[in-house]
Amino acid sequence: MTAGGGEIIKKLEDTTRDAARHQSETLRYILQHNGGVSYLRRYLGSYNEPVDADTFRSAVPLSRYEDYADYINKMADGVLADENDGGRPLLSVDPLTCFFYSSGTSSMKPKLIPYFDSKPAKEISAMAHQGSFANVGRLFPPRPSANKALWFLYAGNVAETKGGYKAMAATSSPLHNDPKGSSSSRLLSACVSPREVILGTDVEQQMYCHLLCGLRNSDLIHSIRAPYASGLARAFRLLEAKWERICEDLENGFPAAEIITDAVMRESVSEILSGPRPDLSNKFRAILREKSWEGIVRKLWPNVGYVRCITTGTMFQYYEKLRFYARDVPILGGDYFSSECSIALNFDVLQPPELTRYTMIPSAAYFEFLPFDMDRCCCSGSRTLDLSSVRVGEFYELIVTTYRGFYRYRLGDIVKVVGHYNSSPQVEFVMRAPKTSGDIVTERDLMSAMGGFRVVARDVMLSAEVTDFTSFFDLEAEPNRLKIFLELKDGCAQSEVEMIRTKLRKCCSRLEDDLGGIYKVMKARGEVSSLLVSIVQPGSFDSLLEMAVEKGVPATQYKPPKILRDCKLVEFLEMSAILTITADS
Ligand code: AMP
Repeated sequence: MTAGGGEIIKKLEDTTRDAARHQSETLRYILQHNGGVSYLRRYLGSYNEPVDADTFRSAVPLSRYEDYADYINKMADGVLADENDGGRPLLSVDPLTCFFYSSGTSSMKPKLIPYFDSKPAKEISAMAHQGSFANVGRLFPPRPSANKALWFLYAGNVAETKGGYKAMAATSSPLHNDPKGSSSSRLLSACVSPREVILGTDVEQQMYCHLLCGLRNSDLIHSIRAPYASGLARAFRLLEAKWERICEDLENGFPAAEIITDAVMRESVSEILSGPRPDLSNKFRAILREKSWEGIVRKLWPNVGYVRCITTGTMFQYYEKLRFYARDVPILGGDYFSSECSIALNFDVLQPPELTRYTMIPSAAYFEFLPFDMDRCCCSGSRTLDLSSVRVGEFYELIVTTYRGFYRYRLGDIVKVVGHYNSSPQVEFVMRAPKTSGDIVTERDLMSAMGGFRVVARDVMLSAEVTDFTSFFDLEAEPNRLKIFLELKDGCAQSEVEMIRTKLRKCCSRLEDDLGGIYKVMKARGEVSSLLVSIVQPGSFDSLLEMAVEKGVPATQYKPPKILRDCKLVEFLEMSAILTITADS
């Protein structure tokens, strides 16, 4: 680890020693700095600014994205101040640099998050990212002979708002906002893929090129990474499907034009391939032809130290498959960040997802914790606790007041407090909060029921492997009905449909039984009809990603939704269903 890395980790640890003080200083700074903005003056106008934490929490209501949408849309159109309020800045006094697209999971409509040029926010975010980097570097120091990351990044999607601001993924911003800056060049020099691939605009082609570059320089690969486990699972699926083509490209020394249609990307990859390499191609063919995917990571990348991605929350479903590909190669967990602000760090990255705890960063934002009742699946009232008052074992929705214009904002994440690191709480990521009181299954219910279903399906359905799933609660149906859509790795051949239908039925009643307390009660009361399960064509979930990316969702941050709320997407999945059964049929 570099001396700088050690210092940063120490600094971060120091902030956890006196978490309460850091929290009050953070809030004081935010209110002193931004207390006069139009949004806050609506609630704090009658107070002499700046107010204290108690006044802030009693006067300013909890808020959701919708409460900011008008302000944000105005800013995107280029209006930064409220003309009806003496020209006050809308959300922040800091200059607006650009917007981030956050992933907007269930509706797959990205949210625009304003990125104000806030010095303390930049400092803490840089410290958190560098600390995270140093923490991993301390465990797995790169060697000069193996110092590259096969990093599945897709940073090309940049839109422009009507007011002329760029809108992009938070993860892409160093590459676009400061293309010649140190963090941008650090990122690019760490990656085995060229800039043109990272900044491409076709996810499938980019993924293919990442793999091709990663194999061309396989001995240099020290880590394999993606922000989220779903991204890595998808990349390995592509490798399984396209390895022959990839080997051919290695042999030829350039990617085939019919596969990589983007000429810029093709040229840059050809440069990396630097001529025909039949030796490499033969070596990889010999390995891949075996189709023995267990432990493939080490077979292809002999010097790899680790695989890294977020494996908690809905990403947990991909963990087992990644373990299969990685075997002896450790899978390190990621941190807990959002487009709105940094939240918490994973200091113990070697822990598996079920034991992963995130340590809150007390200077990243002002945090409040809204008690969440797991049995009733809703928040208990609107009284929040501060970071020093949370209780171990309790569940909370996270509320943030950020340096960048969100005030008592419901982030929509449910966490469980599981301990403390010095005086800062450590949390487990539990799930996205239910959106409405009408939600009868939570992400967690569904994940746990599908965990059981996968095991049964593997036994009963001749080792059928579920690659992805999602659900939709149909309020138009009489009575209302839950639908679950599954994709199987090898699809379901026409000749097998009847056999699979019979076998699937056996698994579905068990699945329905596992769907959580609220579902059970409603089912018993006849308020929901039997669960409907559809198997969709292979590739349907990739199409969902493509549709989301078309709407502006950043591919790098995409999280396949577990609870769908967009009827168009549901219609699409219904159209691609190969077979559908009801749990009691
Ligand atoms: P985005 O704004 O697109 O970066 O998405 C941020 C959201 O991703 C968070 O609010 C969480 O819901 C989810 N997320 C981020 N980090 C993690 C993590 N370590 N585990 C589970 N979910 C995460």
